[in-house]
Amino acid sequence: MLRAVEGCPFCRIAGGDSRAKVLFADDDVVAFHDIAPKAPVHLLVIPRRHIASLAEATSEDASLLGKLLLAAAEAARRSGTVDAFRVVANTGARSGQSVFHVHLHVLGGRHLAWPPG
Ligand code: 5GP
Ligand code: ZN
Repeated sequence: MLRAVEGCPFCRIAGGDSRAKVLFADDDVVAFHDIAPKAPVHLLVIPRRHIASLAEATSEDASLLGKLLLAAAEAARRSGTVDAFRVVANTGARSGQSVFHVHLHVLGGRHLAWPPG
């Protein structure tokens, strides 16, 4: 049984306690639609286990983070944007991180300018 962190919205989603439009899930990760999409395709991929941010990840998380990246590619594939998509992990409040449970944004379905803001 994974320990949910009190007040963490993504632990709630991982635990099925909160409604989210889930694209797919397995024992380790959940992919779901962002509630406030910034692109025609905007998915979030989270580990079920709470890690506050990439800055807090350790070598013990290597396999889980690998699964997270593969799940991001799978999410892009399933949403039909595999030819051009972007994976983003905002890390730290000054980078725009607002939910402190590691998540990958998968953005696609429109031109993605570079560099991002
Ligand atoms: P961050 O700003 O931390 O990089 O990204 C957090 C993302 O989570 C934002 O794009 C925000 O719209 C999304 N988000 C926050 N709370 C919820 C929620 O309860 N459900 C869903 N589906 N998305 C959420
Ligand atoms: Zn959490």
